[in-house]
Amino acid sequence: MFTIEELEELVKDCKKCRLYKKRTNLVFGEGVTNTILMFVGEAPGADEDRMGRPFVGKAGQLLDKALTALDFERKKNFYITNICKCRPENNRTPMEDEAEACLPYLRRQVLIIKPKIIVCLGATAAKYIIDRNTRISQIRGQWFERKGYYLTATFHPAALLRDESKKRLMWNDLKKVKAKYDEILQEL
Ligand code: SF4
Repeated sequence: MFTIEELEELVKDCKKCRLYKKRTNLVFGEGVTNTILMFVGEAPGADEDRMGRPFVGKAGQLLDKALTALDFERKKNFYITNICKCRPENNRTPMEDEAEACLPYLRRQVLIIKPKIIVCLGATAAKYIIDRNTRISQIRGQWFERKGYYLTATFHPAALLRDESKKRLMWNDLKKVKAKYDEILQEL
């Protein structure tokens, strides 16, 4: 089994799908790896592509603010990554073949980190992790138990920048994540 650093080294020159052509930096993921909590978004945006780090633009900052209020911090207790590790041009949704090409890396990350809780941020992550035929509005805030993982979904923070009314709903979803996190920690 690889370490997360070894996996990142293996992935860094990936050309498995067309998204490599326009990337500035591949965005592998970051955070602590001895954690029970993992967040997964869609793909890097312009700021993330430029910096090589996930969720560092406006949407990421909004997410960090909400998570910090729940005592979640990247350097302390969670890991964060995306379905696709390279930026689709103009922030379009990754195509099916791009997501399929990249998903084995996410699966490896999950096998190495062994989180108990995986939170899908937005429709694309929910589609590939929870259910291919559902809508984020139908499943957000619910729990799905699969193969020993607790899966849930909420909005992508970029959606909150477009529609403020989603903020309260996302906050409610994240509070459920915090409750589940505390419950699991107590059982360990
Ligand atoms: S998106 Fe994933 S599969 Fe496609 S080139 Fe980047 S790392 Fe490779």
